[in-house]
Amino acid sequence: MQFFFILVIVLGFISCKGPENSAKLLPVGTQLAFAENKVIAHRGAWKKEHLPENSIAALKQAILLKCAGSEFDVRMTADDSLVINHDPEFNKLPVEKAKYADLLAFSLTNGEKLPTLREYILAGMDKNSATRLVCEIKPSEISKERSKLIAQKVVNLIQLLKAEQYVTYISFDYDILKKILSINPKAITQYLNGNISPVQLKTDGIAGADYHFSVYQKHSDWIETAKKQNIVLNAWTVNEVKDMEWLLANEVDYITTNEPELLLERLKLSPVSNGWKLVWADEFNYAGLPDSSKWGFQTGGNGWGNNELQYYTANDTNTAMVANGILKITALKQETENREYKSARLVTAKKAEFKYGRIESRAKVPAAVGTWPAIWMLGANIREVKWPACGEIDIMEHRGMELDKVHGTLHYPGHSGGNAVGKTIMVPGVTTAFHKYAVEWDAIEMKFFVDDSLYFTIPNSEKIPFNHDFFIILNLALGGNFGGEVDPAFLKDVMEVDYVRVFQRKG
Ligand code: MG
Repeated sequence: MQFFFILVIVLGFISCKGPENSAKLLPVGTQLAFAENKVIAHRGAWKKEHLPENSIAALKQAILLKCAGSEFDVRMTADDSLVINHDPEFNKLPVEKAKYADLLAFSLTNGEKLPTLREYILAGMDKNSATRLVCEIKPSEISKERSKLIAQKVVNLIQLLKAEQYVTYISFDYDILKKILSINPKAITQYLNGNISPVQLKTDGIAGADYHFSVYQKHSDWIETAKKQNIVLNAWTVNEVKDMEWLLANEVDYITTNEPELLLERLKLSPVSNGWKLVWADEFNYAGLPDSSKWGFQTGGNGWGNNELQYYTANDTNTAMVANGILKITALKQETENREYKSARLVTAKKAEFKYGRIESRAKVPAAVGTWPAIWMLGANIREVKWPACGEIDIMEHRGMELDKVHGTLHYPGHSGGNAVGKTIMVPGVTTAFHKYAVEWDAIEMKFFVDDSLYFTIPNSEKIPFNHDFFIILNLALGGNFGGEVDPAFLKDVMEVDYVRVFQRKG
């Protein structure tokens, strides 16, 4: 043990040139305390600081940010040098066919030389106890045998540098991961290609799935299955806030991103970081009619007590249709059951009724004059006690006649209809972009949000009817007491819903 410790230090100094590189390796045997955030910087944290991808500077930046991990790509030159580079070519030289010395004719855009794996790992162990080194081994384009040889050499070097504790191995090549495990059965491996189920990974001794986030959307059960199998879950490469929020809501273990600073920020704001747990959702990641196990239709054309003009149809893809991750509720001019227009009104099924929680939906609302879209809730006891005794929570209402004014409202006995209790907020662009609408509701109070801003808080108590199960409603009405006159030229408009999520308090 002592021998290896000395060796590590010696190697450290050999590889270091320049005063900035006085490597302070942690003593062998030190238990690392990795950062608990889920953020894996993809090829280091390069983007915001304009650093080259896969540079040591980008790795240092990821360590400075205390990312949970920093990812990098390993390739092997013709003369068996392990270097850090994503593409098969470096400055138009094919890495696998070039000699290391030839590659050194070029440097990275920040002046850094092309890092070797040894230099990279030593830099990654320098004053770092928070950030894992996520080592992607790129398969050889020459042969499978060479791929396995690369794996062998990488694992041997990691062992020599006593860096095993830091390293997670990832690869698109399953055989590379199996080779790694044959050398070091304790190595942490994650598979990248997305074509193998979590159950199969478990069987094969692979510790984790690190799949493109769309794989988890396509196989909507894989996140849950992986958790049950104790398969670590990572998702790549997630740069959009909406995708980050979905993965955070679903409590995946890691998220690989080009935007680690943004993800660290979103992580702090995520409901699951603030005491909530996702208990129900429809992400609309399917095609056709809304999922009948989650939604029912309310049909009719009686005006719903508001003199609305539409007839609500059921199981009609012209009015309610899921595609490309979005539910579209469409109101259109088409005479139906003696009504001039038709539209849809979806209500959650019996098993999706909730007392208290954070109910959140991301949606884009129509702009046509006379449209009245709503994301809202009614007390499930409405059949027994009638409205407004059941209570009504309007998470979002909007009127085409008054663009960008979002309404959050409560209706209950003494405060219903025109006398309801609510607030409005102007949110520019609600008809041109998706926004997040949410209510956080418990026995103490109800808080209304658009995106992440709180604009209305109202106390709850036993005196008002907001302490029992409620169901969720999504609908697009036309006209009526609240919607106002419909534009005579109106033909069609749409409310688009990206998802509905229900969180409840943990524990
Ligand atoms: Mg990579």
